[in-house]
Amino acid sequence: ETKYVYLLMLLLACMVSSYISAAYCKKIWVRVCIKRNIIRPYLQPIVNNEGNIIGAEVLARWITKKGQVLPPHVFIPYIESKHLTSLLTCSLMTQVYQSQLMVVSKHLKLSFNLTERCLFDESIYKASLLLAPKFELVLEFTESAPFSNAHVKARMEKFHQNGMFFALDDYGTGYSAPYYLTDYDFDYLKIDRCFIEQIEHNPKSIHVVESVVRLAQKLQLSVISEGVETEKQKQMLDQWGIKQYQGYYFYKPMSVESFMDIYRSH
Ligand code: C2E
Ligand code: CA
Ligand code: CA
Ligand code: CA
Repeated sequence: ETKYVYLLMLLLACMVSSYISAAYCKKIWVRVCIKRNIIRPYLQPIVNNEGNIIGAEVLARWITKKGQVLPPHVFIPYIESKHLTSLLTCSLMTQVYQSQLMVVSKHLKLSFNLTERCLFDESIYKASLLLAPKFELVLEFTESAPFSNAHVKARMEKFHQNGMFFALDDYGTGYSAPYYLTDYDFDYLKIDRCFIEQIEHNPKSIHVVESVVRLAQKLQLSVISEGVETEKQKQMLDQWGIKQYQGYYFYKPMSVESFMDIYRSH
């Protein structure tokens, strides 16, 4: 009988070790993919009231061997869980730095999605320094990435001193707390799509968006409205004094090449 127990234990040990090594291999594989630029920067234009492109948000896309374009929800959670977010952000910044975007003469706004940890990553800091003279560089944070300590404030200050800007992303969702606005030095506020989506039909969300806009004006924050999908939404937002938009009504995220084509013919 002990023979069977040993055999079972051996089998179990094999299963556990192969599971661990498979997980380990996956992490290495993803790391290699990031380093080989398999994950590319896509750009969603940010426009002004007249619909002119004034900048773009950089959104990650995984390009498969067959040319399929995978959206972030497929791979970002894994990358974040394995603490590869800084490596990815740095790769996206570097790819932008090496792209055609650098020859655009206009001073475009360019925003990246960061986690708190990225702020302390020296390679991201260096990549930001390369981009900051060329673009109005905006670093977007979500409220769900916990802002925990005084180091964050000091670090933000350092980026600010080098001409970079900060946006509080997805405002009004997640760990929604106006506390972030009073305690941290943000320049932009991005109203989440979930509110914009409802303004045409739900008077309550009209009040929410209006009050967010008023709050932002009082705090001297610029507002970017995300997820604008209809003419009506754009008109309503115009009325409330919003000046910057992002959404499918204007443009969907696109490759750098497509962005350049549109931008040139604009
Ligand atoms: P996000 O930062 O809130 O980015 C905006 C998302 O809304 C993008 O989805 C964009 O395609 C989508 N969107 C923009 N306008 C519209 C619209 O009019 N209608 C609809 N239905 N959707 C619209 P995407 O590209 O799938 O990205 C999802 C999320 O993944 C992002 O949300 C961001 O949190 C995360 N993400 C993307 N790229 C990166 C990255 O490089 N680093 C990190 N850490 N996160 C990223
Ligand atoms: Ca964002
Ligand atoms: Ca957002
Ligand atoms: Ca979002």
